[in-house]
Formats: sequence, C-alpha cells, structure tokens
Amino acid sequence: MQRLHIAIAGCGPAGLATALLLHRDGHHVTLFERFDVPRPVGSGLMIQPTGFAVLRELGLADALLDHGARIDRLHGEAGSSGRVILDVRYAALGKGAGFGIGVHRATLFAVLHEAVAAERIAIETGCAVTGSETAADDRRFLLLEGGRRVGPFDLIVDALGTRTPLAPPCGRKLAYGALWGTLDWPADAGFDPGALEQRYWRASVMVGVLPVGRFPGAPRQQAALFWSLRADRLAEWRTAGLDVWKAEVSALWPATRRLLDQIRSADQLTFARYAHRTLSTPAEAGMIHIGDAWHSASPQLGQGANMALLDTYALALALRRSPDVAAALGSAIAMRRRHIHLYQALTALFTPVYQSDSRAIPFVRDRIVGPLSKLWPATRIQAAMVSGLIGNPLKPLFG
Ligand SMILES: Cc1cc2nc3c(=O)[nH]c(=O)nc-3n(C[C@H](O)[C@H](O)[C@H](O)COP(=O)(O)OP(=O)(O)OC[C@H]3O[C@@H](n4cnc5c(N)ncnc54)[C@H](O)[C@@H]3O)c2cc1C
Repeated sequence: MQRLHIAIAGCGPAGLATALLLHRDGHHVTLFERFDVPRPVGSGLMIQPTGFAVLRELGLADALLDHGARIDRLHGEAGSSGRVILDVRYAALGKGAGFGIGVHRATLFAVLHEAVAAERIAIETGCAVTGSETAADDRRFLLLEGGRRVGPFDLIVDALGTRTPLAPPCGRKLAYGALWGTLDWPADAGFDPGALEQRYWRASVMVGVLPVGRFPGAPRQQAALFWSLRADRLAEWRTAGLDVWKAEVSALWPATRRLLDQIRSADQLTFARYAHRTLSTPAEAGMIHIGDAWHSASPQLGQGANMALLDTYALALALRRSPDVAAALGSAIAMRRRHIHLYQALTALFTPVYQSDSRAIPFVRDRIVGPLSKLWPATRIQAAMVSGLIGNPLKPLFG
C-alpha cells in the first residue's frame, strides 16, 4: 500500500507500539497525547507470551527482560485456611512453554517511548482528543480540545483507552476496583520473586503481590501491592485511615507487613476502577479502535496490555497485505475478533470468582474448583488461559 498519513491517538502501549510498527512500514505517523509529557498512570501489569511475541518483533524483548521480573507461576491461597486455590505454572504447557513478565507500566512505557523517540516519530503532546470528523473522501479529521482540527488523515488509530471519546460509550463499570502501590521489593520477607501471589477471603477481599523488576536507570527491584476494593467503599477506606487498613491486610497475610511499613500516606496508593466493555463495531470509515478503546475488562486474567499489543500487530500486518485502508481494517478485525470475544467472556466468567460479594461462588471455588484445578488437564488449560493462548491468537499473526 502507498505511504499513508496516519494519526494515532493515545500514547499507551497500543498507541506507541502501533506508531513503531507503522513508521517502520514506511507510513507517515503522528501520535497525539493529552499529557504535556507523555507518562503512564498506574502500577504493575503482566506481559504474557502473547504480548511478548509482539515486543520481540519490535526488537524490545531484551529491554523488557532486562527490566521486568520473570514470573513462572501464579499462586493464591485462602487467607484463613491456607488452602491453595490458584496454582498456575507456565511450565504445565510443556516444552517451549513461555513465562510471564511482571513489569511496572512506567517501565513498559519507557521501553516503548524510548524506541519511538529514537526513531524520531512525531508526538504532539498536550492535545486532548475530543472527537473525529469524516472528510469527503473517507479520510478523517481529528478534533482536539480548544476547537483545533487536524488532518485529514488516511487513517486514525484510536488508542485512547477505555474512556475514548472517539467511540460511543458501551459496557458497564464494575463494582470492584483495586488500590495499587509500588514499593521496594522486600528481599527477606518470604515472597517468591518468580510468582504473582495472592491471598483471599471469600471473593470480597483480595491482596496480591507482583514482582515488577526495576525502573530504567534505577537499581532497586520493586513490587506492586494491590488490594481489592469496591468503588463505593473508597471514601469509607479513606476515612478509616491507613492503620485500620494495614491491620486488616496483615491479618490476612502477615508477610505483607514489610511492604505495608513502606506506606506512610494514602497518596502512595492509586485506586483503579475496572470496566467491562467491547465495541460491537471496532472500525468506521478511516478509523479503527484498538486496545482498551476496543475492549477492556477487569485485570483478573491479566490480558489487557497483551491484547492491545496483539491488536497493533494485526493492524500492521493487515495494512501490509491489503489493497486499501477499508480492506485492511476489515482484515485486522477479522484476525483479532474471535480471540477478543473469547477472553472477554472468560474474564466476565472469572471476575466474580475473585471480586464479588457472592458467598456461594468462593465456597465452590475453595472446596471444589481449587482442588480440581490442580489435576491434569486443568493445569494445562489454566496455563494456556493465563498465557493468553486459548483460541490460538498467534497463528493468524505469526503463522
Ligand atoms: C490496575 C490495572 C492492572 C492491570 N493489570 C494488567 C495486567 O496484569 N496485564 C495486562 O495485560 N493488562 C493489565 N491491565 C490493563 C492494561 O493496563 C490496559 O489494557 C492497557 O494499558 C491498554 O493499553 P491502551 O494503550 O489500549 O490504553 P491506555 O494504556 O489506557 O492508554 C491510553 C492513552 O491515551 C491517552 N488518552 C486518553 N484519553 C485521551 C484524550 N482524550 N486525548 C488524548 N490522549 C488521551 C492516555 O493518557 C494514555 O496515554 C491492567 C489495568 C489496570 C487499570
């Protein structure tokens, strides 16, 4: 296809990775971001073998491995009984099994942003996108806060995340979110540096510790600590004060004391509220929605950034192979739709198991599903699910 003029809205993982791929394919790319200095919001996340395959194609695998923490297993226990409820090992996938990488969002951002800057891809910062407008010939203008109109572009890639103004609102906010904090890794507190570990009480209380490696240029290893919380109890949590909360967390999981001691102010914790939404029409004339702008879910299965990276690769591949933009958008969506719908359904199914007010679901989880999940073939299915590999998403992308 000829050299296209492409606007990419949003400097999250989806926007930055798309910019790299499309710039390298010879297109003229400009990124638009609302922040004056592009920056990530939030704490840790896990890169799965799916997302890692895309980062490897981008030549960023070594940088990620260098900064992130290799995760070989996910382990969860009922806090009160010590009963093991979650025991997922990537090795259950056998020869060639991958692994997860715990990483801070800032590190993933830095690795991608550094590559974008090195290739001198244009980023317009301080530009809050408000909408888009079609031009006469299927091209599109991007509308920015303050009434500015830029373009027209042959293609707008909407990578603005779950609250994108470029698509109609859909889906629902979930009752639960989580408080996230990034702390120094407590080397001698007994946490496994190769595991995401969690403790639960019913499905309404959950605390987790994820190793996230180190920030670029920083020597110290870090951990992400997260605490499940209903959005409508956030104000109550603030009023009760940190000491009440710390006592509750350490009663459930005494080893967390070494992490909790590092928290001196509620400002060290960020509350993330989750939403579950999937756009039924992820493309219009001259525009495609990717990453969280297309689909977002609670992070129970830890797939969001990985799905976003797969979307970007599908779009680049489709643009390489198709005669025109419209055909490319159809092809990109076809490559991704089945996998996205499958994981959106799986996440909707699993979210109440770990974040809900139900008593029946965690009862069954702890006594029946937990023990059964340790038997073959459940071990293999769980490893494939966490890796993002159910539905074989890499086949249409990497053959
Ligand atoms: C607490 C938490 C934990 C998570 N854990 C995991 C995990 O373990 N594994 C995983 O894969 N995923 C995880 N996710 C999900 C993952 O973070 C997202 O799926 C991923 O960041 C989506 O990337 P994106 O680029 O599509 O959107 P985003 O990361 O949301 O990026 C959107 C970008 O657009 C910019 N922007 C937004 N609105 C505007 C506007 N109007 N104008 C201009 N710019 C704008 C934003 O500033 C941002 O830079 C987690 C999410 C949360 C909240």
